[in-house]
Amino acid sequence: MAKPKAENKSDLMEKIVSLCKRRGFVFPGSEIYGGLQGFYDFGPLGVEMKNNLKRLWWDWMTREHDNIVGIDGAIITNPKVWEASGHLKNFVDPLVECKKCHHRFKADDINAECPDCGGNLTEPKVFNILVPTQLGVIEEEKTSAYLRGEACQTIYLDYKSVLDTTRLKIPFGICQIGKAFRNEVTPGNFLFRQREFEQWDLQWFCRPEEMEKWFEYWKSERMAWYKSIFTHPENLGFYQHEKLAHYAKKAFDIEYTASPVGKEMEGIHWRGDWDLSRHAEFSGQDLSYADLETGEKFIPNIVETSGGVDRAFLFLLLDAYCEEKDPAKDGASRVVLKLNPKIAPYKIAVFPLLANKPELVKMAKDIYDSLKTQFMAAWDDRGNIGKRYYAQDEIGTPFCVTVDFDSLEDKKVTVRERDSMKQERVEINELAEYIKKQLN
Ligand code: ATP
Repeated sequence: MAKPKAENKSDLMEKIVSLCKRRGFVFPGSEIYGGLQGFYDFGPLGVEMKNNLKRLWWDWMTREHDNIVGIDGAIITNPKVWEASGHLKNFVDPLVECKKCHHRFKADDINAECPDCGGNLTEPKVFNILVPTQLGVIEEEKTSAYLRGEACQTIYLDYKSVLDTTRLKIPFGICQIGKAFRNEVTPGNFLFRQREFEQWDLQWFCRPEEMEKWFEYWKSERMAWYKSIFTHPENLGFYQHEKLAHYAKKAFDIEYTASPVGKEMEGIHWRGDWDLSRHAEFSGQDLSYADLETGEKFIPNIVETSGGVDRAFLFLLLDAYCEEKDPAKDGASRVVLKLNPKIAPYKIAVFPLLANKPELVKMAKDIYDSLKTQFMAAWDDRGNIGKRYYAQDEIGTPFCVTVDFDSLEDKKVTVRERDSMKQERVEINELAEYIKKQLN
Protein backbone atom coordinates (compact mmCIF):
# COMPACT_ATOMS: atom_id res chain seq x y z
CA MET A 1 0.00 0.00 0.00
CA ALA A 2 1.50 3.34 -0.98
CA LYS A 3 1.54 5.69 1.95
CA PRO A 4 0.42 9.27 1.38
CA LYS A 5 2.97 10.98 3.58
CA ALA A 6 3.02 14.11 5.60
CA GLU A 7 5.54 16.47 4.02
CA ASN A 8 8.61 15.23 5.84
CA LYS A 9 9.53 13.01 8.73
CA SER A 10 9.98 15.56 11.51
CA ASP A 11 6.82 17.26 10.38
CA LEU A 12 5.05 13.92 10.75
CA MET A 13 6.40 13.52 14.28
CA GLU A 14 5.10 16.96 15.22
CA LYS A 15 1.69 16.07 13.84
CA ILE A 16 1.57 12.88 15.86
CA VAL A 17 2.60 14.64 19.08
CA SER A 18 -0.07 17.26 18.51
CA LEU A 19 -2.79 14.73 17.59
CA CYS A 20 -1.90 12.66 20.66
CA LYS A 21 -2.41 15.66 22.91
CA ARG A 22 -5.43 17.11 21.13
CA ARG A 23 -7.39 13.85 21.03
CA GLY A 24 -6.32 12.38 24.36
CA PHE A 25 -3.82 9.68 23.39
CA VAL A 26 -0.77 10.99 25.26
CA PHE A 27 -0.25 13.99 27.53
CA PRO A 28 3.09 15.40 28.70
CA GLY A 29 3.64 14.23 32.30
CA SER A 30 2.81 16.70 35.13
CA GLU A 31 2.21 19.40 32.56
CA ILE A 32 0.45 21.85 34.92
CA TYR A 33 3.76 22.11 36.80
CA GLY A 34 5.75 22.66 33.65
CA GLY A 35 6.24 18.97 32.91
CA LEU A 36 9.11 16.58 33.69
CA GLN A 37 11.35 15.50 30.86
CA GLY A 38 11.00 11.87 29.84
CA PHE A 39 7.62 11.23 31.47
CA TYR A 40 4.24 10.94 29.75
CA ASP A 41 0.67 10.04 30.69
CA PHE A 42 -1.62 8.01 28.46
CA GLY A 43 -5.02 9.68 28.07
CA PRO A 44 -8.48 8.13 27.54
CA LEU A 45 -7.78 6.99 23.97
CA GLY A 46 -4.12 6.18 24.57
CA VAL A 47 -4.83 3.82 27.43
CA GLU A 48 -7.43 1.96 25.33
CA MET A 49 -4.99 1.59 22.46
CA LYS A 50 -2.11 0.58 24.72
CA ASN A 51 -4.26 -1.99 26.51
CA ASN A 52 -5.40 -3.43 23.15
CA LEU A 53 -1.79 -3.71 22.10
CA LYS A 54 -0.66 -5.35 25.32
CA ARG A 55 -3.62 -7.76 25.24
CA LEU A 56 -2.71 -8.82 21.69
CA TRP A 57 0.89 -9.45 22.71
CA TRP A 58 -0.11 -11.32 25.86
CA ASP A 59 -2.65 -13.56 24.14
CA TRP A 60 -0.26 -14.29 21.31
CA MET A 61 2.48 -15.29 23.77
CA THR A 62 0.46 -17.25 26.29
CA ARG A 63 -2.40 -18.67 24.23
CA GLU A 64 -0.83 -19.30 20.88
CA HIS A 65 2.20 -21.00 22.44
CA ASP A 66 1.51 -23.93 24.75
CA ASN A 67 4.78 -23.66 26.62
CA ILE A 68 4.85 -19.99 27.58
CA VAL A 69 3.53 -18.64 30.87
CA GLY A 70 3.45 -15.11 32.23
CA ILE A 71 4.47 -13.36 35.43
CA ASP A 72 4.07 -9.86 36.82
CA GLY A 73 7.15 -9.11 38.88
CA ALA A 74 7.84 -6.32 41.37
CA ILE A 75 9.41 -3.08 40.23
CA ILE A 76 11.78 -3.00 43.20
CA THR A 77 13.97 -6.01 43.84
CA ASN A 78 16.77 -6.83 46.22
CA PRO A 79 19.56 -4.45 45.10
CA LYS A 80 21.93 -7.42 44.70
CA VAL A 81 20.03 -8.21 41.50
CA TRP A 82 21.65 -5.20 39.83
CA GLU A 83 25.11 -6.23 40.98
CA ALA A 84 24.58 -9.65 39.45
CA SER A 85 23.15 -8.19 36.25
CA GLY A 86 26.15 -5.92 35.81
CA HIS A 87 24.12 -2.70 35.93
CA LEU A 88 25.85 -1.40 39.07
CA LYS A 89 29.32 -1.73 37.64
CA ASN A 90 28.92 1.52 35.77
CA PHE A 91 28.74 3.49 39.02
CA VAL A 92 32.48 3.82 39.04
CA ASP A 93 32.92 4.49 35.34
CA PRO A 94 32.84 7.94 33.83
CA LEU A 95 30.79 7.50 30.65
CA VAL A 96 30.11 9.63 27.64
CA GLU A 97 26.99 9.25 25.55
CA CYS A 98 26.67 9.91 21.84
CA LYS A 99 23.92 12.51 21.42
CA LYS A 100 22.94 11.00 18.09
CA CYS A 101 22.88 7.21 18.51
CA HIS A 102 22.77 7.24 22.35
CA HIS A 103 25.44 4.59 22.67
CA ARG A 104 27.49 4.99 25.79
CA PHE A 105 31.22 4.55 26.01
CA LYS A 106 33.71 4.54 28.83
CA ALA A 107 35.38 7.94 28.71
CA ASP A 108 38.80 6.25 29.06
CA ASP A 109 38.23 4.22 25.91
CA ILE A 110 37.32 7.02 23.65
CA ASN A 111 38.92 9.80 21.64
CA ALA A 112 37.04 12.91 20.68
CA GLU A 113 35.01 11.12 17.98
CA CYS A 114 32.15 8.77 18.47
CA PRO A 115 33.13 5.46 16.82
CA ASP A 116 29.61 4.43 15.86
CA CYS A 117 27.96 7.24 14.00
CA GLY A 118 30.14 10.31 14.32
CA GLY A 119 27.69 12.15 16.61
CA ASN A 120 28.75 14.62 19.31
CA LEU A 121 29.49 13.28 22.76
CA THR A 122 28.25 14.44 26.13
CA GLU A 123 30.81 15.49 28.76
CA PRO A 124 32.22 12.49 30.71
CA LYS A 125 30.18 11.81 33.83
CA VAL A 126 30.13 9.16 36.49
CA PHE A 127 26.62 7.96 36.11
CA ASN A 128 24.36 5.03 36.30
CA ILE A 129 21.14 4.67 34.40
CA LEU A 130 19.46 2.91 37.34
CA VAL A 131 16.97 5.10 39.20
CA PRO A 132 17.77 4.92 42.93
CA THR A 133 15.14 4.98 45.63
CA GLN A 134 15.06 4.53 49.39
CA LEU A 135 12.95 2.18 51.46
CA GLY A 136 11.99 2.60 55.11
CA VAL A 137 10.40 5.39 57.14
CA ILE A 138 13.13 6.20 59.67
CA GLU A 139 15.62 8.64 58.14
CA GLU A 140 18.80 7.01 59.49
CA GLU A 141 17.63 3.47 58.73
CA LYS A 142 16.69 3.78 55.12
CA THR A 143 17.81 1.09 52.68
CA SER A 144 18.86 1.97 49.19
CA ALA A 145 17.24 0.16 46.29
CA TYR A 146 16.58 0.76 42.60
CA LEU A 147 13.56 0.93 40.35
CA ARG A 148 14.16 -1.83 37.84
CA GLY A 149 16.18 -0.76 34.83
CA GLU A 150 14.84 -3.59 32.71
CA ALA A 151 11.80 -5.75 33.29
CA CYS A 152 13.45 -9.06 32.37
CA GLN A 153 15.45 -9.51 35.60
CA THR A 154 12.38 -10.62 37.57
CA ILE A 155 11.90 -13.45 35.08
CA TYR A 156 15.33 -14.83 35.96
CA LEU A 157 14.55 -14.44 39.66
CA ASP A 158 11.24 -16.30 39.32
CA TYR A 159 12.44 -18.96 36.89
CA LYS A 160 12.89 -21.64 39.57
CA SER A 161 9.51 -20.86 41.21
CA VAL A 162 7.78 -21.02 37.84
CA LEU A 163 9.37 -24.41 37.13
CA ASP A 164 8.36 -25.70 40.57
CA THR A 165 4.74 -24.61 40.17
CA THR A 166 4.04 -25.55 36.55
CA ARG A 167 4.56 -28.63 34.43
CA LEU A 168 6.82 -26.85 31.99
CA LYS A 169 9.63 -28.82 30.43
CA ILE A 170 12.50 -27.40 28.49
CA PRO A 171 12.15 -25.65 26.04
CA PHE A 172 9.74 -23.18 27.62
CA GLY A 173 9.18 -19.46 27.94
CA ILE A 174 8.30 -16.94 30.64
CA CYS A 175 6.90 -13.64 29.50
CA GLN A 176 6.12 -10.35 31.17
CA ILE A 177 4.87 -6.86 30.43
CA GLY A 178 6.04 -4.27 32.90
CA LYS A 179 7.49 -0.88 33.63
CA ALA A 180 11.18 -0.10 33.51
CA PHE A 181 12.96 3.06 34.62
CA ARG A 182 16.17 4.55 33.29
CA ASN A 183 17.95 7.78 34.08
CA GLU A 184 18.47 8.36 30.37
CA VAL A 185 21.10 11.03 29.76
CA THR A 186 19.16 12.43 26.84
CA PRO A 187 15.45 11.66 27.19
CA GLY A 188 13.47 12.99 24.25
CA ASN A 189 11.79 12.31 20.95
CA PHE A 190 8.40 11.93 22.61
CA LEU A 191 7.74 8.31 23.64
CA PHE A 192 10.92 7.04 22.01
CA ARG A 193 13.30 7.72 24.87
CA GLN A 194 11.59 8.11 28.22
CA ARG A 195 12.71 7.69 31.79
CA GLU A 196 9.69 5.56 32.66
CA PHE A 197 8.48 3.15 29.99
CA GLU A 198 7.03 -0.28 29.48
CA GLN A 199 8.67 -3.40 28.08
CA TRP A 200 7.31 -6.69 26.81
CA ASP A 201 9.76 -9.49 27.25
CA LEU A 202 9.99 -13.15 26.51
CA GLN A 203 12.79 -15.21 27.99
CA TRP A 204 12.97 -18.54 26.19
CA PHE A 205 14.79 -21.27 28.10
CA CYS A 206 16.31 -24.02 25.99
CA ARG A 207 19.12 -26.52 25.71
CA PRO A 208 22.50 -24.95 24.86
CA GLU A 209 22.81 -27.04 21.70
CA GLU A 210 19.44 -25.77 20.47
CA MET A 211 20.18 -22.04 20.78
CA GLU A 212 20.78 -21.55 17.07
CA LYS A 213 17.45 -23.09 16.14
CA TRP A 214 15.44 -21.14 18.72
CA PHE A 215 17.18 -17.87 18.07
CA GLU A 216 16.17 -18.05 14.41
CA TYR A 217 12.68 -19.22 15.35
CA TRP A 218 12.02 -16.25 17.66
CA LYS A 219 13.60 -13.79 15.31
CA SER A 220 11.16 -14.73 12.58
CA GLU A 221 8.15 -15.22 14.90
CA ARG A 222 8.51 -11.77 16.41
CA MET A 223 8.92 -10.12 13.03
CA ALA A 224 5.82 -11.95 11.74
CA TRP A 225 3.86 -10.73 14.76
CA TYR A 226 4.84 -7.09 14.25
CA LYS A 227 4.10 -7.39 10.52
CA SER A 228 0.61 -8.63 11.38
CA ILE A 229 -0.25 -5.43 13.28
CA PHE A 230 1.45 -2.66 11.30
CA THR A 231 -0.39 -0.79 8.54
CA HIS A 232 2.73 -0.87 6.33
CA PRO A 233 4.64 -4.05 7.21
CA GLU A 234 7.23 -3.15 4.56
CA ASN A 235 8.46 -0.49 7.01
CA LEU A 236 9.83 -3.16 9.35
CA GLY A 237 13.31 -4.57 9.10
CA PHE A 238 16.16 -6.18 11.00
CA TYR A 239 19.34 -4.52 12.14
CA GLN A 240 22.21 -6.87 12.95
CA HIS A 241 24.52 -5.77 15.76
CA GLU A 242 28.22 -5.94 15.12
CA LYS A 243 29.34 -5.20 18.66
CA LEU A 244 28.21 -8.07 20.83
CA ALA A 245 28.13 -8.77 24.54
CA HIS A 246 30.78 -11.37 25.41
CA TYR A 247 28.15 -14.09 25.93
CA ALA A 248 26.22 -13.36 22.71
CA LYS A 249 26.76 -15.09 19.40
CA LYS A 250 24.46 -12.68 17.59
CA ALA A 251 21.94 -9.92 18.24
CA PHE A 252 19.28 -8.32 16.06
CA ASP A 253 16.90 -5.42 16.46
CA ILE A 254 13.48 -5.28 14.89
CA GLU A 255 13.32 -1.75 13.53
CA TYR A 256 10.65 0.58 12.28
CA THR A 257 12.73 1.79 9.37
CA ALA A 258 10.51 4.77 8.47
CA SER A 259 10.94 6.32 11.93
CA PRO A 260 11.84 10.02 12.03
CA VAL A 261 13.64 9.39 15.34
CA GLY A 262 15.45 6.20 16.44
CA LYS A 263 14.38 2.95 14.81
CA GLU A 264 14.86 0.21 17.42
CA MET A 265 11.62 -1.38 18.62
CA GLU A 266 12.67 -4.80 19.94
CA GLY A 267 15.91 -6.64 20.59
CA ILE A 268 16.35 -10.36 19.87
CA HIS A 269 19.19 -11.34 22.13
CA TRP A 270 21.37 -14.42 22.54
CA ARG A 271 21.88 -14.42 26.31
CA GLY A 272 23.31 -17.94 26.65
CA ASP A 273 23.64 -19.00 30.29
CA TRP A 274 24.90 -15.56 31.40
CA ASP A 275 21.91 -14.37 33.44
CA LEU A 276 21.12 -17.60 35.27
CA SER A 277 24.81 -18.30 35.96
CA ARG A 278 25.30 -14.81 37.40
CA HIS A 279 22.22 -15.05 39.61
CA ALA A 280 23.27 -18.54 40.73
CA GLU A 281 26.69 -17.15 41.66
CA PHE A 282 25.43 -14.03 43.46
CA SER A 283 22.51 -15.71 45.26
CA GLY A 284 24.26 -18.98 46.06
CA GLN A 285 21.23 -20.89 44.76
CA ASP A 286 21.25 -23.79 42.34
CA LEU A 287 19.52 -22.50 39.22
CA SER A 288 20.18 -25.50 37.03
CA TYR A 289 17.49 -27.44 35.25
CA ALA A 290 17.11 -31.14 35.96
CA ASP A 291 15.92 -33.22 33.04
CA LEU A 292 14.12 -36.11 34.72
CA GLU A 293 13.99 -38.17 31.53
CA THR A 294 17.71 -38.09 30.72
CA GLY A 295 19.08 -37.41 34.18
CA GLU A 296 21.02 -34.38 32.89
CA LYS A 297 21.46 -31.20 34.92
CA PHE A 298 22.43 -27.97 33.23
CA ILE A 299 21.90 -24.20 33.21
CA PRO A 300 19.41 -23.47 30.45
CA ASN A 301 20.41 -21.04 27.71
CA ILE A 302 18.18 -18.10 26.94
CA VAL A 303 16.89 -16.38 23.82
CA GLU A 304 15.37 -13.04 24.78
CA THR A 305 12.90 -10.94 22.85
CA SER A 306 12.70 -7.57 24.60
CA GLY A 307 10.54 -4.87 23.10
CA GLY A 308 9.29 -1.42 24.03
CA VAL A 309 5.51 -1.11 24.33
CA ASP A 310 5.68 2.69 24.06
CA ARG A 311 7.95 2.58 21.03
CA ALA A 312 5.60 0.11 19.31
CA PHE A 313 2.71 2.45 20.22
CA LEU A 314 4.53 5.44 18.71
CA PHE A 315 5.62 3.59 15.57
CA LEU A 316 2.09 2.23 15.01
CA LEU A 317 0.73 5.79 15.12
CA LEU A 318 3.41 7.10 12.77
CA ASP A 319 2.74 4.19 10.41
CA ALA A 320 -1.04 4.61 10.45
CA TYR A 321 -1.14 8.40 10.03
CA CYS A 322 -2.44 9.51 6.69
CA GLU A 323 -3.72 12.74 5.14
CA GLU A 324 -5.93 12.29 2.12
CA LYS A 325 -8.58 13.92 0.00
CA ASP A 326 -12.19 12.88 0.39
CA PRO A 327 -13.73 12.62 -3.10
CA ALA A 328 -17.21 12.64 -1.56
CA LYS A 329 -16.54 16.11 -0.12
CA ASP A 330 -15.12 17.82 -3.17
CA GLY A 331 -11.58 16.94 -2.24
CA ALA A 332 -11.73 18.17 1.36
CA SER A 333 -8.79 16.71 3.21
CA ARG A 334 -9.10 14.40 6.15
CA VAL A 335 -6.64 12.92 8.62
CA VAL A 336 -7.02 9.17 9.08
CA LEU A 337 -5.30 6.81 11.45
CA LYS A 338 -5.39 3.61 9.44
CA LEU A 339 -4.75 1.55 12.54
CA ASN A 340 -5.32 -2.17 12.60
CA PRO A 341 -8.92 -2.37 13.97
CA LYS A 342 -7.71 -4.67 16.75
CA ILE A 343 -5.57 -1.83 18.07
CA ALA A 344 -7.88 1.13 17.43
CA PRO A 345 -9.22 2.65 20.70
CA TYR A 346 -12.84 2.57 19.54
CA LYS A 347 -14.17 -0.13 17.22
CA ILE A 348 -17.37 1.67 16.38
CA ALA A 349 -19.11 5.06 16.69
CA VAL A 350 -22.88 5.53 16.65
CA PHE A 351 -24.67 8.72 15.56
CA PRO A 352 -28.24 9.91 15.08
CA LEU A 353 -28.34 11.81 11.77
CA LEU A 354 -29.85 14.81 13.55
CA ALA A 355 -29.49 15.49 17.26
CA ASN A 356 -32.79 17.40 17.49
CA LYS A 357 -35.01 14.53 16.30
CA PRO A 358 -35.92 12.52 19.42
CA GLU A 359 -37.02 9.44 17.45
CA LEU A 360 -33.59 9.23 15.72
CA VAL A 361 -31.75 9.87 18.97
CA LYS A 362 -33.72 7.17 20.76
CA MET A 363 -33.11 4.55 18.10
CA ALA A 364 -29.39 5.44 17.90
CA LYS A 365 -29.05 5.34 21.71
CA ASP A 366 -30.67 1.88 21.83
CA ILE A 367 -28.22 0.63 19.20
CA TYR A 368 -25.29 2.24 21.03
CA ASP A 369 -26.38 0.65 24.34
CA SER A 370 -26.61 -2.80 22.78
CA LEU A 371 -23.23 -2.50 21.00
CA LYS A 372 -21.21 -0.99 23.84
CA THR A 373 -21.30 -4.19 25.88
CA GLN A 374 -19.59 -6.03 23.03
CA PHE A 375 -17.28 -3.42 21.51
CA MET A 376 -15.54 -0.28 22.67
CA ALA A 377 -18.09 2.17 21.24
CA ALA A 378 -18.27 5.95 20.93
CA TRP A 379 -21.38 8.14 20.86
CA ASP A 380 -21.48 11.45 19.02
CA ASP A 381 -24.39 13.76 18.25
CA ARG A 382 -22.53 17.05 17.85
CA GLY A 383 -22.10 19.02 14.63
CA ASN A 384 -22.88 17.57 11.24
CA ILE A 385 -22.36 14.01 10.10
CA GLY A 386 -19.30 14.83 7.94
CA LYS A 387 -17.48 16.38 10.91
CA ARG A 388 -18.32 13.37 13.06
CA TYR A 389 -16.87 11.01 10.44
CA TYR A 390 -13.68 13.05 10.29
CA ALA A 391 -13.39 13.18 14.07
CA GLN A 392 -13.58 9.37 14.18
CA ASP A 393 -11.17 8.95 11.23
CA GLU A 394 -8.59 10.99 13.10
CA ILE A 395 -8.62 8.56 16.04
CA GLY A 396 -8.79 5.44 13.87
CA THR A 397 -12.36 4.23 14.56
CA PRO A 398 -12.93 1.57 11.87
CA PHE A 399 -16.76 1.82 11.64
CA CYS A 400 -19.36 4.55 12.03
CA VAL A 401 -23.07 3.74 12.25
CA THR A 402 -25.68 6.37 11.39
CA VAL A 403 -29.38 6.20 12.18
CA ASP A 404 -31.43 8.24 9.67
CA PHE A 405 -35.09 8.67 8.83
CA ASP A 406 -35.12 5.55 6.62
CA SER A 407 -33.90 3.56 9.63
CA LEU A 408 -37.22 4.22 11.35
CA GLU A 409 -38.97 2.47 8.46
CA ASP A 410 -36.60 -0.23 7.17
CA LYS A 411 -34.82 -1.01 10.47
CA LYS A 412 -31.46 -0.63 8.73
CA VAL A 413 -28.55 1.70 9.46
CA THR A 414 -25.71 3.09 7.36
CA VAL A 415 -22.32 1.60 8.23
CA ARG A 416 -19.37 3.61 6.93
CA GLU A 417 -15.93 2.01 6.76
CA ARG A 418 -12.97 4.22 7.72
CA ASP A 419 -10.37 3.53 5.01
CA SER A 420 -12.55 3.08 1.90
CA MET A 421 -15.27 5.46 3.19
CA LYS A 422 -17.73 2.99 1.61
CA GLN A 423 -21.22 3.00 3.08
CA GLU A 424 -23.46 0.00 3.40
CA ARG A 425 -27.01 -0.49 4.72
CA VAL A 426 -27.10 -3.17 7.40
CA GLU A 427 -30.08 -4.67 9.28
CA ILE A 428 -30.05 -3.44 12.89
CA ASN A 429 -30.52 -6.93 14.26
CA GLU A 430 -27.51 -8.16 12.24
CA LEU A 431 -25.28 -5.22 13.11
CA ALA A 432 -23.25 -6.78 15.92
CA GLU A 433 -22.50 -9.90 13.84
CA TYR A 434 -21.62 -7.74 10.84
CA ILE A 435 -19.12 -5.67 12.84
CA LYS A 436 -17.63 -8.75 14.48
CA LYS A 437 -17.06 -10.30 11.07
CA GLN A 438 -15.49 -7.14 9.67
CA LEU A 439 -13.17 -6.74 12.66
CA ASN A 440 -11.84 -10.24 12.19
P1 ATP B 1 18.51 2.02 23.22
O1 ATP B 1 19.75 1.49 22.49
O2 ATP B 1 17.56 2.73 22.31
O3 ATP B 1 18.85 2.80 24.46
P2 ATP B 1 18.43 -0.50 24.48
O4 ATP B 1 19.16 -1.35 23.47
O5 ATP B 1 19.14 -0.03 25.69
O6 ATP B 1 17.72 0.74 23.74
P3 ATP B 1 16.98 -2.67 25.66
O7 ATP B 1 17.68 -2.57 26.96
O8 ATP B 1 17.34 -3.80 24.75
O9 ATP B 1 17.10 -1.26 24.89
O10 ATP B 1 15.41 -2.64 25.93
C1 ATP B 1 14.47 -3.32 25.13
C2 ATP B 1 13.51 -2.36 24.49
O11 ATP B 1 12.99 -1.42 25.45
C3 ATP B 1 14.09 -1.48 23.40
O12 ATP B 1 14.16 -2.18 22.17
C4 ATP B 1 13.11 -0.34 23.35
O13 ATP B 1 11.99 -0.66 22.54
C5 ATP B 1 12.66 -0.20 24.79
N1 ATP B 1 13.34 0.93 25.43
C6 ATP B 1 14.60 0.95 25.91
N2 ATP B 1 14.89 2.16 26.45
C7 ATP B 1 13.77 2.91 26.31
C8 ATP B 1 13.43 4.25 26.69
N3 ATP B 1 14.29 5.03 27.33
N4 ATP B 1 12.19 4.70 26.39
C9 ATP B 1 11.30 3.91 25.74
N5 ATP B 1 11.56 2.64 25.38
C10 ATP B 1 12.78 2.14 25.65
